[in-house]
Amino acid sequence: MTQKSTYVKFTEEMKKDYTIIIPTMLPIHFNFIANVLRTKGYKVDFLEFTDGNIREAGLKYVHNDTCYPALLLTGQMINALKSGRYDLDKVALLMTQTGGGCRASNYIYLIRKALKRAGFEKVPVISLNFGAMEDHPGFKITLPLVYKMLYCALYGDLIMLLSNQTRPYEKTEGETDKLVRAWTDRLMEDMRNPKNIKYSHIKKNYHLIAEDFAKILGDTPRDKVKVGIVGEIYVKFSPLGNNNLEKFLLDEGVEPVMPGFMDFAIFCVYNGIQDYLYYKKKPVKALGCKFLYPYLLGKQNDIRQMLIKDFPQFMPPADFDETRRRVMDYIDLGAKMGEGWLLPAEMLELASEGITNIICTQPFGCLPNHIAGKGMMKQIKERNPEVNIVAVDYDPSATAINQENRIKLMLSNAK
Ligand code: SF4
Repeated sequence: MTQKSTYVKFTEEMKKDYTIIIPTMLPIHFNFIANVLRTKGYKVDFLEFTDGNIREAGLKYVHNDTCYPALLLTGQMINALKSGRYDLDKVALLMTQTGGGCRASNYIYLIRKALKRAGFEKVPVISLNFGAMEDHPGFKITLPLVYKMLYCALYGDLIMLLSNQTRPYEKTEGETDKLVRAWTDRLMEDMRNPKNIKYSHIKKNYHLIAEDFAKILGDTPRDKVKVGIVGEIYVKFSPLGNNNLEKFLLDEGVEPVMPGFMDFAIFCVYNGIQDYLYYKKKPVKALGCKFLYPYLLGKQNDIRQMLIKDFPQFMPPADFDETRRRVMDYIDLGAKMGEGWLLPAEMLELASEGITNIICTQPFGCLPNHIAGKGMMKQIKERNPEVNIVAVDYDPSATAINQENRIKLMLSNAK
């Protein structure tokens, strides 16, 4: 029997009273997505808590040469099931599947194997993917749901972008986080009303959000040293994966700069076009991606143009198509495993914005990151001598102290 036929499906009956646990990655974005799922009738618990020995649980239930994000996510889920917080007969897990050739498509199988070993094999693991990779009758990705998730990503990126630019300069400690929470709650409520899923309404909200964050910044110049963060998507974004890197940088008195989630989504869509160009495979998917690519660029560009026009005190998201074109001189666009060419592209994007101190977050066991991240650093530095890139390793045995010392060394040069 194949793996496909043996997984536990999430049925329509389960939808009524099962709690779906979603692991953390991007706290703001995932809160929005959890909320959208709630409006569709799902009982969702967003897994923010990091108590217990997540790394140890991961090491116990997956092979120790598995990449670090897979290990952490598995450990976090097993810990959640063992925590006693959930009725084990009424709980399911949700995991994303990117559909690419990397392990991110296969975490779900690792998790199921780990669940079996831990005695939780009856717990369904729902696949969240946009390519009909698995069938769960009680969990359907519909077009309106995809549409809403897109807005969650855009809202999430905007709030993350602005809050990163106000937090280092706030006059009252905590006011940025207070505003993030206020806007998260407000938008979650707002999105409950189907009438508000209109683009004109969403664009109005963009403006209101930027106005509020601009009040925190006031006329304070953003003059702190800026440090860019790139890397494999999970360790780049997840505080659990990168030992709270953003907070550490803030405490060191610098402004962290992180390209948003939409870059990764647009990168994945562009790869659908590139696949067809190289391998002549999946023409229908390529056609869809050809339509989607400019559509998503346009949505990201609306935020960019609003900030350039009305809020010049903020640095807008970069023009992704320019980012893509810039990197073609360094790496082939066929290098798309994991974060692939997006990694050097974001390093170059940051450098073009004058952010020359860059941390490349490097998970243990991640071949794509080693090739397209660490492997590209020398070439980027040689051709852009002003750029200072430091690779920081994240693995179960690496201590935060080691990572922090490496970053401190970089900061001492930067300052
Ligand atoms: S990109 Fe790296 S860390 Fe992410 S799934 Fe692939 S191998 Fe694992």
